[in-house]
Amino acid sequence: MEPLDGNAIAGLLFEAFGAEMTTAVGVCARCRARAPAAELRVYLRGPGAVGRCRSCGAILIVISQIRGVACVDLNGFASLESPSGEVAASGGAPG
Ligand SMILES: [Zn+2]
Repeated sequence: MEPLDGNAIAGLLFEAFGAEMTTAVGVCARCRARAPAAELRVYLRGPGAVGRCRSCGAILIVISQIRGVACVDLNGFASLESPSGEVAASGGAPG
């Protein structure tokens, strides 16, 4: 499947965070690559989407739609800073 970019999930991110997140800068927990969400490699699957690191391919973000609500798992990010400078995610669950 051909990957899309982070703009493909802009709507889902907006729904989940209530803010424009494609310019939010995330740091990959695996390779420490730093890139805006718009540069994620996005694979749409089923009702949700998976965003992978452009550098190492690690899964950084998983968005699933449960009963019409976007649920976002950001565990692949070491951190994710929204454009306003607010930290949306920091670390993940241990392990
Ligand atoms: Zn990476």
